[in-house]
Amino acid sequence: MSNNTKIFKLQGKVQHYTWGGMDFIPALLHLSNPEKKPFAEYWMGAHDNVPSEVELPDGSLQPLNAFIKQDAAALLGPAVHQRFGRLPYLFKVLDVKDMLSIQVHPTKKAAESAFAAENMKGTPLNAPNRNYKDDNHKPELMLALSDFWLLHGFKSPQALVTILMQTPELQFLVPVFDNENYHALYERVMTMDQQEVDERLRPLLDRIVPLYEKGFLDRSQEDFWAARAAKTFCEPNRLDRGIFSIYLFNLLNLKPGEAIFQDAGIPHAYLEGQNMELMANSDNVLRGGLTNKYIDVPELMHHTKFEAVIPNILTGTSGAVTGETAFPTPAADFELRRLVLKSGSTVSLTASTAEIFFVYEGAVKAKAGSTEISLGKGETMLATAGASFELQISQDAVLFRATVPQ
Ligand SMILES: [Zn+2]
Repeated sequence: MSNNTKIFKLQGKVQHYTWGGMDFIPALLHLSNPEKKPFAEYWMGAHDNVPSEVELPDGSLQPLNAFIKQDAAALLGPAVHQRFGRLPYLFKVLDVKDMLSIQVHPTKKAAESAFAAENMKGTPLNAPNRNYKDDNHKPELMLALSDFWLLHGFKSPQALVTILMQTPELQFLVPVFDNENYHALYERVMTMDQQEVDERLRPLLDRIVPLYEKGFLDRSQEDFWAARAAKTFCEPNRLDRGIFSIYLFNLLNLKPGEAIFQDAGIPHAYLEGQNMELMANSDNVLRGGLTNKYIDVPELMHHTKFEAVIPNILTGTSGAVTGETAFPTPAADFELRRLVLKSGSTVSLTASTAEIFFVYEGAVKAKAGSTEISLGKGETMLATAGASFELQISQDAVLFRATVPQ
């Protein structure tokens, strides 16, 4: 590789988790899917388990984690290198067909000590009961590419009491929430024995599943998602206690272009739709239902923030470049930007660290010195720290840019 090459084509990796859709990501990436496999996520980043690949000028491919390690200070820039020592973010496209598990992510400090503790205990990294895959926090920002539905944080006290009162089978929880005690309420539903879960949820599901099947419920109703969850996850005599949570959390509908940030401790679950996701480079997930995977209730309770969350839907702020919108968050690990660029225009950009550009629509040509890269819909580019380059827009384009706040 010539030392002054600073922009590269990048190839991400598809994750075929069972909840993924079969059409959206294949169409975006120009892949055929004759076997009708689920295409859940497309990862762009340097995660050690699933690194993207860098196309070098000689045409060979190198994993992005190894590529960065060769000269991390130069490729990441001194500030990011000093603070993180690695590419701090992971960039994804998601296509959520079936809802994902309810989850909470730990703080950085908690992840460091809990990861070390699990290592001390000798729990293998890939064990099903292993909570911590790495020592990092995992704040996440998502931007909706379609109508997107998710659960996000506990409802306000008033909204919570209203939905419990309106749902006869859940009225028994109203006194548990006395004095707005979110902890007591959540502990009650997460620790009741399975027999009681089945007894409490069965009459609810017997009432709402037929309504769901006849198309009488709509997505703005908790009942819709509870019925869908029952059909997706539940074994006949083992109803998923995550169904309670659908009523406890804010049910949100984001429109395309709207974004939301999930900080440590905020319970959340993606229900349906497509999005761009940018997060700290971590895989630390504590699950709370809507899943057949391992649930560690005490650990989940320990990391959950028991307070009402007023959802803060982000529409972005104007960036430094014409057509650029930034979506800043409190996380120091990443910043998402969107570029909406007209055919025939040219913009000049400088990468402050190793940045990833994903072409969601249109076509562009990137030029840095004598290097030229043509990128169409679904293609990805890496620009290393200090890269100054032009983007020439050959067809009206929407790009997403992953960087780190200055
Ligand atoms: Zn999450």
